[in-house]
Amino acid sequence: LTTPINKITALLELYPKGMAGFKRFTDLMKVNPDVQDKEDAVEVDELKGNIQFQDVTFGYEESHRAVLNNMNFTVKPGETVAFVGPSGAGKTTISALIPRFYDVTEGSITIDGIDIRDMTKESLRRQIGVVQQDVFLFTGTLRENIAYGKLDATNEEIELAAKRAHMEDFINELPNGYETQVGERGLKLSGGQKQRIAIARMFLKNPPILILDEATSALDTETEMIIQTALNELAESRTTIVIAHRLATIKEADRIMVVTKKGIEEEGSHEDLLQKRGLFAHLHDVQMKK
Ligand code: ATP
Repeated sequence: LTTPINKITALLELYPKGMAGFKRFTDLMKVNPDVQDKEDAVEVDELKGNIQFQDVTFGYEESHRAVLNNMNFTVKPGETVAFVGPSGAGKTTISALIPRFYDVTEGSITIDGIDIRDMTKESLRRQIGVVQQDVFLFTGTLRENIAYGKLDATNEEIELAAKRAHMEDFINELPNGYETQVGERGLKLSGGQKQRIAIARMFLKNPPILILDEATSALDTETEMIIQTALNELAESRTTIVIAHRLATIKEADRIMVVTKKGIEEEGSHEDLLQKRGLFAHLHDVQMKK
């Protein structure tokens, strides 16, 4: 009995910290309390991740203009699709609709053919992992912070996730390794280190659908390459939506959609879109010059 009791005690200690972190996370994601479960909402489990937007129109407030108008697209299970386009076009909005942080105004979003409004929010969100620019850390050890991806993870699982997120080198250099205190009152971690914690959490959570909100802040080239490799490995075998700011990082995407205020203007692989010499090629040229 000792092992399970120790585990339960550890979980009880972690839970309030996790909840504090979760509160910040929900604040960050601007969770809308208006989104409620239907009385007969179904629990979904092990979705394949076939995401379909059907004539989706959405505005944040009724009185304001719609941010998305009659948008249609499908993301196949396992596919990586990157959304790019000018600031304010609606890329983040698209990604916020999938975990149902907001409900569509018109049209529907289905996953594996089920309208997401017919699913319980909790079970839907269990199937979706979000890696954001702002990584929240709570006061606790590095191990506890990684375990936040799966509160009952074993030490072996945590260490494997850290390895897969390419964290080993920096953990080995820390004064107390996995037991180092991080968060507001602990060791300050760099942006790249925090992002790898977020990636490790996702390896633990192992969701079939992944949303990556690419960091805009500059990382040094080596860190960026490490993170890109970890992200590519994370995206493998899951449906992945990338909100991309730097066009060079999405070369590997199966498909790129160029979103403007008018809707999806171009769609294709990195190479197709460069050859097309349209908006994507233009944005690409501008970034390359910079
Ligand atoms: P960026 O590349 O700058 O992140 P984006 O393409 O992701 O931009 P969104 O963040 O989806 O664009 O914003 C689309 C539009 O919706 C913008 O006009 C923005 O001001 C508006 N918007 C975004 N979030 C909210 C919100 N919570 N409430 C009201 N309007 C919002």
